[in-house]
Amino acid sequence: MEIAEIKRQAEAHRDDLVSIRRDLHRHPELAFTENRTATIISDRLEKLGLEVQTGIAQTGVVATLRGSRPGKTVLYRADIDALPILEAVSAEYKSRTDGIMHACGHDAHVAIGLTVAEILAGRRQNFAGNVKFLFQPAEEIVSGAKPMIEQGVMKGVDVTFGIHMGNDEPVGSIALHSGPAMANVDSIKLIVRGKGGHGSQPEKAIDSIMAACQIVNTLQTIVSREVAPKDTAVLSIGTIHGGFASNVIAPEVVLEGTVRTFLPEVREKMLNRIEEIAVGLGKTLRCEVKFEIVYGCPAVVNSDQWTDFIRQSAGQLLGANKVINSDPIMGSDDMSLFLKEVPGCYFFVGSGKLDGTSFPHHHPGFDIEEDALVVGTEVMTKAVLDYLDQHQN
Ligand SMILES: [Zn+2]
Ligand SMILES: [Zn+2]
Repeated sequence: MEIAEIKRQAEAHRDDLVSIRRDLHRHPELAFTENRTATIISDRLEKLGLEVQTGIAQTGVVATLRGSRPGKTVLYRADIDALPILEAVSAEYKSRTDGIMHACGHDAHVAIGLTVAEILAGRRQNFAGNVKFLFQPAEEIVSGAKPMIEQGVMKGVDVTFGIHMGNDEPVGSIALHSGPAMANVDSIKLIVRGKGGHGSQPEKAIDSIMAACQIVNTLQTIVSREVAPKDTAVLSIGTIHGGFASNVIAPEVVLEGTVRTFLPEVREKMLNRIEEIAVGLGKTLRCEVKFEIVYGCPAVVNSDQWTDFIRQSAGQLLGANKVINSDPIMGSDDMSLFLKEVPGCYFFVGSGKLDGTSFPHHHPGFDIEEDALVVGTEVMTKAVLDYLDQHQN
């Protein structure tokens, strides 16, 4: 499809894009409860004649559009969940559910996915290969991608693409980063077990608070002494709980913290060393230490090949000056798991006001410039068609 035709098609769907997005925005749903959203998605895709599977990882939907001839399979992933935030936007389309809000733009990701599916379904005679549309629940708690992968959704996929709204970038642009683009995040928990006793008789007890203090201090040597200065790593212990009274030796202390990294080897080292130091110090001080990763999600890593591909494909459409090479960010996204299975590129579609006054993601005042819906549709439609065109069997 020529660029002018892609733009014409996306523009022709503008009203529909806005109305899908606003409807979802009015009815946001939290992780793994996206039932209404999933029904809207599957109904529309079934009407388009796609092969639709529902109930994957509870509320996930996967649909395949087959071209006229066999060929490669390109994946478009959209996340669909909202956040537990009380919306502070006065728009007509504001959330009808107090305390739940689409404050990250996932409503837009769904609208774009459904519209790209519609445009391509109308042209299935013209391309070889398949387009797989994957609608993932529970991104905000980084829990939806893993069970979807376990149910086999990545089987047969040749390249993985996805977009995220980006209020830091002006509408009309896209922003991407080759290599580690979004941080790995792990939430950790340490349970330090000693033996309770009377504060006056420490020799008969094992002091878990004293051990916990040593552990917290020593953990801070990992970043400063064991991670190369050029690599990024953060370890913050955010909670420490233990003890009952001033004259009682605490039998147990629970510590919780967050670990953020970009490179898998740095992540592994951080997690291994946290465990080794905590367990080892605990042992030295006669405490038993249990280490748990409460949740974890690897860094989003874009391959050079597919980042270049998007840069070129989108550059032809938007102009090279609208394709921004952005810095990595410390936020996380379980899109990383799909990209680990099958490489590709995850990038931001600028949805910020041109004067830079938009609220950031996860802010109660978050809203997107809706032109981004048209831009996202154009960019994804072109990327999918360019890929299938250049990779015919
Ligand atoms: Zn988010
Ligand atoms: Zn998001």
